[in-house]
Amino acid sequence: MSIVKIDSNDNTEFKSATEELGVYFSSLAAKKGRKITYNVLTYGCQLNESDSEKLEGMLMSFGLTHTEEEGELAKADVILMNTCSVRENADKHLFGNLGVFKSSVKQDKDTIVIICGCMMKVEENVERIRRSYPYVDLVFDPQQIHRFPVLLRDSLRKSKQLVNIGAIDYIAEDDYFPIARQRKFRALVPIMYGCNNFCTYCIVPYARGRERSRNFDNIVIELKDLYSRGYKEVMLLGQNVNSYGLNNEDGKTFKDVLEAASDIGFNRVRFMSSHPKDLSDEVIDLMATRPNIEKHLHLAMQSGSNKVLKRMNRPYSIEQFLDIASKFRSKVEGGSLTTDIIVGFPGETEEDFCETLKAVEKAAFDAAFTFQYSIRPGTKAAAYEDQIPKDVVTERFDRLLKIQNDLAFKSNEDKVGKTFEVLIEGMSKAGKGTYTGRTLSNHLVNFTIPEDIMPQDEDLEGRLGIVRIDHARPYSIDGVLERFSDV
Ligand code: SF4
Repeated sequence: MSIVKIDSNDNTEFKSATEELGVYFSSLAAKKGRKITYNVLTYGCQLNESDSEKLEGMLMSFGLTHTEEEGELAKADVILMNTCSVRENADKHLFGNLGVFKSSVKQDKDTIVIICGCMMKVEENVERIRRSYPYVDLVFDPQQIHRFPVLLRDSLRKSKQLVNIGAIDYIAEDDYFPIARQRKFRALVPIMYGCNNFCTYCIVPYARGRERSRNFDNIVIELKDLYSRGYKEVMLLGQNVNSYGLNNEDGKTFKDVLEAASDIGFNRVRFMSSHPKDLSDEVIDLMATRPNIEKHLHLAMQSGSNKVLKRMNRPYSIEQFLDIASKFRSKVEGGSLTTDIIVGFPGETEEDFCETLKAVEKAAFDAAFTFQYSIRPGTKAAAYEDQIPKDVVTERFDRLLKIQNDLAFKSNEDKVGKTFEVLIEGMSKAGKGTYTGRTLSNHLVNFTIPEDIMPQDEDLEGRLGIVRIDHARPYSIDGVLERFSDV
């Protein structure tokens, strides 16, 4: 399939649709005598978050205002749900919310409901919306985001439900979109789109199309601009960042992007996600030697059984995976290694599962996202006949969780008595007067700030400080800020 490159200088239709929507919403505001509001609900991964930042940017460019009513999605005039089909219960969230929106639409016929994201690449979800939720105005998939203003304009012109599910592997540079960045210190920067790997449990290659990488020079321009605007942390995103550039002609690889981001001078450069088959020694060396590249590697293992890995279409052996893990540990001082694991994949025997437990202990992951396998419609594994009974999956999952929680707690306990630089993210949910942030190794830290060093009336989000750790918990560490390190 060919890749369509969209030039940000040639977006006439995008611009004219944006203008038309601006006129539409300003006359709606005049009719109602108030601002017209929007709200966006995002599920799933950081790529979905990044898509939502673009969608929000576009909604704002139509003249809409984010609703003040935090968490009250249904009270906005324009309600947008960016769905995910990877996370469990996504369908329950979507259809549960759609039921709630019905009364909003009944109360105000001008309410606009929009659904997008990976779930819209599953035909049965789209059919259900067509059949049972006629008040949804617009449905589109992740490959159509660059056409959002055009699609919304067309659905309003027709005043009937518009469903636009396509299969164009487009690549639009980020300057094509207005972007409403959600964090003032961290910028999400997708460097590539789509995936070619077709893991048998995953819908992403169908939902987001084939792998394609952004232009290297454009990424560097965007990174320099973000740095000049004061962003301290950049997160380079892709389903498989380590295969960045494979189809580009300039020969640039992920190592070049990582090095360029580090050279620009951000306090922190992070990246997500890495596939074990593509992670190069050069990238690990760069992580080891550059002080501003995170000392954290998220590497999805998925299973410790070579038989299961093969059926998952994960082209590495557990021995190769563990080699990479020990290489990372030996080279990157103080590094943390995290992973994803699926329990109860079709055909997984007790013996296979024990291989996973053994691998988990050998790799000594600092943290793991553990999932109970459940069927994802539209994937190859959904048709496998040897699905594992739910009670067996749950029992195995609990055993894995126990081992992994002990490992995570041990990793956190090792930090007690030491100091770490923390990038402050804001107030912690842990309690009044407590702040939260992350170390360069991505450990979550909750900490207090002594009164004598607490700045007056200052928003601390994005500040850097040295925290002494005095307590470990299973999923976080606690401490006290000793001093700010960015002054
Ligand atoms: S690498 Fe596998 S799990 Fe990750 S997005 Fe691609 S197909 Fe899905």
